Amino acid sequence: MLDYVGLEADLDSEERMVRDTAREFVEKEFKPIVGEHYIDGTFPTELIPKLGELGFYAPNLDGYGLPGLSETAYGLLMQELEAGDSGLRSMASVQGALVMYPIYAYGSDEQKEQWLPEMGTGETIGCFGLTEPEHGSNPSAMETYATKAGNEYVLNGSKTWITNSPIADVAVVWARDRSAENTPVRGFLVETDRDGVSTNKIDEKLSLRASITGEIGLQNVHIPKENMLPGVSGMKGPLSCLTQARFGIAWGAVGAARDCFETAREYATDREQFGGPIARFQLQQEKLAEMATQITTAQLLAYRLSELKERGEMTPQHVSMAKRNNVRMARDQSRIAREMLGGNGITADYSPMRHMANLETVYTYEGTHDIHTLVLGQDLTGIAAFE
Ligand code: FAD
Repeated sequence: MLDYVGLEADLDSEERMVRDTAREFVEKEFKPIVGEHYIDGTFPTELIPKLGELGFYAPNLDGYGLPGLSETAYGLLMQELEAGDSGLRSMASVQGALVMYPIYAYGSDEQKEQWLPEMGTGETIGCFGLTEPEHGSNPSAMETYATKAGNEYVLNGSKTWITNSPIADVAVVWARDRSAENTPVRGFLVETDRDGVSTNKIDEKLSLRASITGEIGLQNVHIPKENMLPGVSGMKGPLSCLTQARFGIAWGAVGAARDCFETAREYATDREQFGGPIARFQLQQEKLAEMATQITTAQLLAYRLSELKERGEMTPQHVSMAKRNNVRMARDQSRIAREMLGGNGITADYSPMRHMANLETVYTYEGTHDIHTLVLGQDLTGIAAFE
């Protein structure tokens, strides 16, 4: 596997073990079935408990049965999962960084004890409801609201593009609390079997097909007041979760690009035209050289991001730069890999076109490329070009 500047030499034994476990799982159990799931637009749900058994949900958190691995170990895990498919990495990202993390960081002791152990094993599935039909890049304009009524909150509104909502047991729903001064955004744990909750599936996707996406409809949904996450108020809540997930994406995208590179390298050395392997043509070598260089520089950024996160020095702007760069890199390079495979490259027998289509979603979700550009623009100039 491509590691051109020998970054793996610095991994400790735990990090190697996580990487190897995830790599073996993806090679043996996921890659053989992903093409079919992609065509059918399904996720292999039978693997959800297996991912838990292997410790793939929030392994960088500590306590509640979670192993508290290093941020590099977590990043390597995301890289290996996304080498399988962005949908597989999304499953682990949403469960770990977008559902378990807010409960861990902002939940009450009761919420942590109730949810974290069973989410860590994959027994319970969660989803993260922030985006709304009319509010994507600007979630602070959300219209979903909660009203306090005695010992309960009543929720109304709708969320869309929610990964795993149709199969989730519980949703972290971000809503404005209309009973509090200045209607702050708060996080609410909403069990999906409550009256008034609907979770319709979105079927028309041409990207991230091996991942389940849906809506969350909330019509006078009553939840106990204890279901509110007590530890955070305002947009800091959802945004801090997104920082965790985007960190995983910055790593994960490198995995998708690496899988495209390895597929193209192998194909180029096997495929013969004009009396020999196409890898002997300078045009093909230039493509591999460029791909390897782009992947290596993205790997370096991902490793550095982990170091900063371990030291508590990683800022959301660092994450914006890494997500923006690494996903764009993977999106561009997947297309070159697809091209190198000729006609075979457009089939589900090979991964590059699947990765290429997936990366359109990854480029758009968790802050679009444009929005991360504006975040960096603001950080670099001190002038905000958006609210
Ligand atoms: P819009 O915000 O309408 O943007 C449209 C275009 O306008 C984009 O190109 C954007 O970059 C550009 N634009 C917007 N504002 C500006 C500006 N100020 N300056 C310049 N350009 C701008 N959300 C969740 O809450 N939970 C999930 O689990 C989840 N999973 C997803 C899974 C999939 C498959 C997809 C596709 C999306 C998912 N999302 C999820 C939603 C995702 O985060 C949003 O799609 C994303 O934030 C963009 O919002 P939007 O689609 O409404 O696009």
